[in-house]
Amino acid sequence: MKVEFSYLKRQFGEVDEIIQGIRSVVSRGDYTLGKEVKEFEEKFAKFCGTLYAIGVNSGTDALFLSMKALGIGLGDEVITVPYTFFATVGAIVATGARPVFVDVNNEYLMDTNKIEAVITERTKAILPVQWAGNICDMDKIMALAAKYSLFMVEDACQSVGALLNDKMAGSFGNAGAFSMHPLKNLNVWGDGGIIATNSQSCYKKLLLLRNHGLIGRNICQEFAYNSRLHTVQAAVALHALKNLSFVTNKRMEIARYYDGSFKNIPQLKIPPRPANKKHVFHLYILLAENRNGLLRWLLDNDIDAKIHYPTPLHLQPASAFLGYKEGSFPVCESQAKSIISLPLHQHLTDEEIDFVVDTVQKFYKK
Ligand SMILES: *Cc1c(COP(=O)(O)O)cnc(C)c1O
Repeated sequence: MKVEFSYLKRQFGEVDEIIQGIRSVVSRGDYTLGKEVKEFEEKFAKFCGTLYAIGVNSGTDALFLSMKALGIGLGDEVITVPYTFFATVGAIVATGARPVFVDVNNEYLMDTNKIEAVITERTKAILPVQWAGNICDMDKIMALAAKYSLFMVEDACQSVGALLNDKMAGSFGNAGAFSMHPLKNLNVWGDGGIIATNSQSCYKKLLLLRNHGLIGRNICQEFAYNSRLHTVQAAVALHALKNLSFVTNKRMEIARYYDGSFKNIPQLKIPPRPANKKHVFHLYILLAENRNGLLRWLLDNDIDAKIHYPTPLHLQPASAFLGYKEGSFPVCESQAKSIISLPLHQHLTDEEIDFVVDTVQKFYKK
């Protein structure tokens, strides 16, 4: 049996319905900012519990444009974590601002106790990453943002539908950025992103920034970007949004089963699962003793486990100009040596799930 990490080949059994949506776009020639974009934005804002949502070209653009809309740029500092996908930091650097890292906690999330120590007079924003489908301790981050008058932009690219108490990831800050990359929980047939916000001024600015700064056809208010969500992708996204509760529930169910199966293996460490958080399991990440051995064993058994990620961002060649070194963020560095992501997605069969569990158990009994 081969257990794949990705579900892309099994997805879209209901492809006909999506094709119909796309056919409708094509028959109207409505490719650019068409009616499906507006419809998806309205439905997504409602889902997130925010006043507005703006479709853009990718999650990376969602982050970049959110910061641009808030006026973040050269000379500013933005606080984030070194344990994230490259795009979080890439988007900060693209604005001209300087990323400042804080270490993570035992949930692999921004350690809120370490933020205050790195706030300077240049700090403009805190950018927490809602990693793996989980959600940070937003109350503490919000309190710090208020105390120091900082913006807060959430990287919710991996956590669509995650909750802290009853509040959605992406709805806490000035803006929340989501990705609809094919491998994200809410995904389209290519690239796509969306920004959630409660601020009307931020919303209006984002409408300008994503579409050349145009007000109407012939007036350019400010020179800007082309980062529109394609109408064709919005048609796919409308379908994906309808399907999202299935995706989320299935992922949570498998994660509970994995947790229950692994909790008695002393060589594996399951992170805390606080009761006030709804973790939507974009990734299922454990800390494993002899991680490299386990990874090799799983791959040898045709189970496509992965490492997200072996090298924290402060130790990447691209970060050299920031001046961090080995030892700068010990928790993140130590986790990078033992994290492992097991296959978890909504299309895994019961047999595949049990095969993963059995194969992991066998490794530690060897
Ligand atoms: C996927 C991802 C992004 C970037 O999203 P794209 O749509 O691929 O541009 C940003 N941050 C995190 C944490 C992500 O996982």
